[in-house]
Amino acid sequence: MFDVLVIGGGVIGGTILRELTKYKLSICLLEKENDVCMGQSKANSGIVHAGFDAVPNTLKAKFNVIGNKMMKGYTKELGVKYKNNGALVVAFSQEELAVLEKLKARGKANGVNGLEIISASKLKRLEPNVSNQAVGALYAKTSGIVCPYELTIASIGNAMDNGATLITDFEVADIVKRENKFIVKSAFGKEIEGKIIINCAGLGSGKIASLVGDSDIEVKARKGEYILIDRESGGFISHTLFFVPTKAGKGILATQTVDSNLLFGPTAEETEKEDIDTSAKGMSFVIEKVNTILEKPPLFNTITSFAGARAFSNRNDFIIEESKNTKGVIHCAGIESPGLTSAPAIAKFVVEELVSKQTELVKNKKFNGKRESESCFKNLSIKKKNKIIKKDSSYGKIVCRCEQITEGEILHAIRTNPPAKNIDAIKRRTRSGMGRCQGGFCQPYIADLIAKEQNIALTEVTKKGKGSEILLKVTK
Ligand SMILES: Cc1cc2nc3c(=O)[nH]c(=O)nc-3n(C[C@H](O)[C@H](O)[C@H](O)COP(=O)(O)OP(=O)(O)OC[C@H]3O[C@@H](n4cnc5c(N)ncnc54)[C@H](O)[C@@H]3O)c2cc1C
Repeated sequence: MFDVLVIGGGVIGGTILRELTKYKLSICLLEKENDVCMGQSKANSGIVHAGFDAVPNTLKAKFNVIGNKMMKGYTKELGVKYKNNGALVVAFSQEELAVLEKLKARGKANGVNGLEIISASKLKRLEPNVSNQAVGALYAKTSGIVCPYELTIASIGNAMDNGATLITDFEVADIVKRENKFIVKSAFGKEIEGKIIINCAGLGSGKIASLVGDSDIEVKARKGEYILIDRESGGFISHTLFFVPTKAGKGILATQTVDSNLLFGPTAEETEKEDIDTSAKGMSFVIEKVNTILEKPPLFNTITSFAGARAFSNRNDFIIEESKNTKGVIHCAGIESPGLTSAPAIAKFVVEELVSKQTELVKNKKFNGKRESESCFKNLSIKKKNKIIKKDSSYGKIVCRCEQITEGEILHAIRTNPPAKNIDAIKRRTRSGMGRCQGGFCQPYIADLIAKEQNIALTEVTKKGKGSEILLKVTK
């Protein structure tokens, strides 16, 4: 029996899992998919929001601002890429300039430092490719960018290195309370026992809440579609550019990513939970908006499009609380944006303020919060590369040509916590397949490496878990 069962391997479950390993507790993460980071945490904008957007005195405002301040140190400890690039909310009229004043006041009320309203000429100096129609902007210097899946995977990997257990392909389908323990049942009849449950199931968090009698927690999905641009055009902008929010919504954003791609999006459309398909309508909207905020955006360098689904709650705020009906259950439900930014702050609060009420927290003196940064081989000097290749020749073989990822890095991803078990899992850990050819060249080679490492047939290798096998049979 585990002391704590965390349901959901996204950034919220992952950062909570890591925070829990700072104490002497036995912990297990249950994830329904074949890998961690398969929900919202995999497909989002990756912005470490400054905190001027959230309504004051909400949980969103509170955790956004604290999370923003924590992010630099948190990512440094885990070797995760983070950049404090700053954000600009671009105004196109006098009315929008007045809204910027309101946003600035709201940010001040939330505790955001360094907000400044800047002129059109200063905006042009900061971002030469911004639209010539822009009349000014709100400059948020504390805004940043982070790789969302790197953050999630590193948090979970570090927690596992510190003793946490991960069980994938475990979709929680039922929870039974018996005296002082919970029996958590999977959709396929497996059972795990635990004393405390933390519900971090993203889009599934409403369903988990209803399993313990909290059917007042409702979580719905709002889809966001994106366009991703090749790194070749990565220097086109350096800040994150937002539209001024209107009654019709926030529009889209244009940003550089930590890996020097450009990202345009997301749209906002209420959908079925599992719908993360892109659409012609969504793409047209993004293209129209990008052409409004930028002069001649490099859309010709588009690599791919994708979508993510936000999990938003019926309270229009994060739901972070103990269950009203079942003692021993803690909900982190409906964590939509700015959930990525807020994750380290939410994790600290959940463990120190909520888990501590359920069990005594005794410090784990062996906890080591450090983790080596992943996938940086291509950025090393020739001297350092040669030294590594001398020790392990697999680092001398480039597998993904577009992103220059070596066989050594792919094997490392398969062998390191949390182990990559399929093609997409390797992609999220190493960037192989994320370049211009989108895996056309490296996928067969990676499939072969997975088969050999896991001692399975090539026909058993999947793209993202059961049902996504990439080869059916031998043809010649
Ligand atoms: C389009 C979009 C853009 C965004 N942009 C930003 C941004 O720029 N900055 C920012 O701060 N935030 C942003 N967010 C919000 C941020 O991504 C989320 O707040 C954050 O990822 C939520 O993490 P989570 O762990 O709660 O959920 P998830 O990442 O969805 O994780 C939940 C996990 O639970 C698993 N699960 C579900 N049901 C079960 C079950 N029954 N049993 C076991 N496992 C289960 C899922 O498979 C999933 O892995 C954005 C979100 C979206 C969708």
